[in-house]
Amino acid sequence: MTREITILSGKGGSGKTTVTGALAALGENKILVDADVDAPDLHLILQPQIKRRESFFGSKKAKIIPEACFQCWLCVTSCRFGAIKAGEPPKINPLFCEGCGLCERICPAEAIEFAEARTGEWYVSDMAYGPMVHARLDPAQGNSGKLVSLIRAEGRKIAEEKRADFILTDGPPGIGCPVIASLAGAGLVLIVTEPTLSGEHDLRRLAELIALFKIPAWVCVNKWDLNREMTLKIEEASRALGMSVAGRIRFDLTTVQAQLRGRSVMDYPESPAAKDIEEIWKQLERMQG
Ligand code: SF4
Ligand code: SF4
Repeated sequence: MTREITILSGKGGSGKTTVTGALAALGENKILVDADVDAPDLHLILQPQIKRRESFFGSKKAKIIPEACFQCWLCVTSCRFGAIKAGEPPKINPLFCEGCGLCERICPAEAIEFAEARTGEWYVSDMAYGPMVHARLDPAQGNSGKLVSLIRAEGRKIAEEKRADFILTDGPPGIGCPVIASLAGAGLVLIVTEPTLSGEHDLRRLAELIALFKIPAWVCVNKWDLNREMTLKIEEASRALGMSVAGRIRFDLTTVQAQLRGRSVMDYPESPAAKDIEEIWKQLERMQG
């Protein structure tokens, strides 16, 4: 049976993508899903070759039917997002349209309709360590949760076809809607955090959210040796919150150099970070049985 491991962090910059990129190189027969659709960066490390490209229609936008419009401009004065500019006929700026539907309801000429709008793209790719499903949401577009659910479903479909042992999902940062979309149905969560006060704070918020889904959670502290005291505090807090400690990753400049070269840190297997992540992977494999 395929198990999904979702990798999360309370916020960006804690090393989540480095860890996911490294885990991708370990173990056999897995699918990778980059669910950080607002700011995907796993492709920078894993250099996927795109095999399939699909449009994502994430929202509906208002559209004026010029022949039906008699230019009363009621829609212009009513749109509180300032999305409709006066003209003959008026013009709707799709970037500002929030799809609230007010203009369609109030237009006396029924001259406004709604159309599905393309708000991003998703891809199925091959990378050195197996298939990868990833996406990109257009700037300033919402509904990233829907896109996360879509690419996770696609990842599961490919995993079934290939009888994959694991799906590794690089989750979005934070605790918002896209994180929730990356959690439902996951078999295990790995939280990557850093030994700082904000790292502890974010970890606690994430732990509360994960507890709602009743998914086993493991924690690893990245760059743990930069603050040993804080690392101990975070590990204690994790256990108290019902989570397990998967391991620690040493501060290692190799991770930065690997990223700059567009490589996984596992391409430098003798580096301290690579060795630490390998130990974490062994823990996760044991957990998955
Ligand atoms: S409310 Fe309808 S008829 Fe009036 S300007 Fe807008 S689209 Fe045209
Ligand atoms: S759907 Fe709402 S936001 Fe979009 S143009 Fe109409 S009134 Fe403005």
